Amino acid sequence: MADGVKKMFIGGEWVEGSEGRSFPTFNPATGEEIARVAEASEADVDRAVRAAREAFEGKWARTSPTRRARLLYALAQKMREHFDELLALEVRNNGKAISGVRGELDQACENFEYFAGAANKIFGKTTPAAPYLLHYTLREPVGVCAQIVPWNYPLMMASWKLAPALAAGCTVVLKPASATPLTALRLAELVAEVGFPEGVVNVVTGPGATVGRALVSHPGVDKVAFTGETATGREIMRMAADGVKRVSLELGGKSPNLVFADADFDAAVAGSLWAIYTSGGESCEARSRILVEASRYDEFVERFSEKAAALKVGDPMDPETHVGALISAEHWRRVDGYVQAGVEEGARVTVGGGRPDDPALARGHYYRPTVLAGVRNDMRVAREEIFGPVVCVIPFEDEADAVRQANDTRYGLAATVWTRDAARAHRVAAALRAGVVTVNHPFTAFPGTTFGGYKESGFGREMGLEALELYTEVKSVMILTSPRPVLPWKV
Ligand code: NDP
Repeated sequence: MADGVKKMFIGGEWVEGSEGRSFPTFNPATGEEIARVAEASEADVDRAVRAAREAFEGKWARTSPTRRARLLYALAQKMREHFDELLALEVRNNGKAISGVRGELDQACENFEYFAGAANKIFGKTTPAAPYLLHYTLREPVGVCAQIVPWNYPLMMASWKLAPALAAGCTVVLKPASATPLTALRLAELVAEVGFPEGVVNVVTGPGATVGRALVSHPGVDKVAFTGETATGREIMRMAADGVKRVSLELGGKSPNLVFADADFDAAVAGSLWAIYTSGGESCEARSRILVEASRYDEFVERFSEKAAALKVGDPMDPETHVGALISAEHWRRVDGYVQAGVEEGARVTVGGGRPDDPALARGHYYRPTVLAGVRNDMRVAREEIFGPVVCVIPFEDEADAVRQANDTRYGLAATVWTRDAARAHRVAAALRAGVVTVNHPFTAFPGTTFGGYKESGFGREMGLEALELYTEVKSVMILTSPRPVLPWKV
């Protein structure tokens, strides 16, 4: 294997792929190869799952919660010590603007801190089942978890998955996306440095089609947690069915952003702008359908397009940049293909569409923030996840029509409502079929708040204490407390 190949982390050791294969990873802002990474074989996946099983049964599941808390907290601190280095690595491998990635990394540290605090607060309950019994529940770790994460928020997604699993006493085999494996591997170094026992966290790298599949279908895995495309989530459910593995899925979205005529338009325009273009639109909760009350539709399109045109697209390392590069040339073509499809169906590009003019950006996968106006909710661009800086603006007639169109999608991840009418805000929040609804602001995820989907956006809730439910089994214990034995059938 060539020098400089990044190794995987299995059972506390740094290893090459057992079949000697590796794959390249790139900087999307320049198109340059920045590293080669070991590609796991099926045997490597097997080794990682066995290491996780051994660590789980060996001691991790019975480690005192306080120790787990200390290690999680130490990991957060270690990440903060290496914050700038992690930040630069993430931006280099992922291409998104540093201002946004900084917030993601901050949240990744906070997630480990949050679940450090939660590790010794995993409660059972007692139930007055019968006068002669004491019934109580225990929440026990579910076991070995396969965690598969995407390229759009590499380290933050890893933290969403690792932190609750480790707090609950599970062990993990993490598979980062092939486009962005570098920060997960660096995180594994920090995991080792702070003293997590061997095998508690393992990181395997390589294609989803081989490594991901081998991991999900491995009989030694108890639970699969996945974030990515809905089609992949479907396949993962099918693969997990054989072993009746626990599954949680955080999948795609086509999230609505409802702007009522009574809204504060300055706030609605600025917030809606962030809700689609942050992360370059490569975000599962991107509010990619803006529904605007018809009486103010033209005004909104004009003001929004003006602001979108003023966003700075360019060098992801520049703190002034709003929108960096898309993940790959292939993804760029996919995003552009959607814009063309929208135009063919009758949408109007008011701003954006294609590359920025700056020749200095020619080598990166840059796409201008794009507004499609005159969109109907039945067009392909309004129904499929584009996953880029492209927003559809759709008119609605009244509140009932707004809710109907917002819910007329196979997805149900996030939704945002802009209105000054408090009663309407509550009414519409209740009527929307989405896992997260925000009112008069665009932010969807904080440590302590739950996140997850309705409908084909998946199931299971990450973040918040609910995430611990994904990583624990509930055991009912019933103890006879009566001094007399129970004699069923009186025999
Ligand atoms: P995928 O769903 O294909 O990938 C997500 C993760 O799953 C990656 O680690 C991937 O590995 C892995 N994976 C892929 N196929 C399998 C499989 N059969 N079994 C197990 N694991 C698998 O999404 P992509 O990253 O390829 O992106 C494709 C599209 O999905 C995007 O353009 C976007 O529309 C959407 N997407 C949605 C996300 C969301 O959060 N809603 C996140 C990312 C993407 P590998 O990288 O090696 O293929």
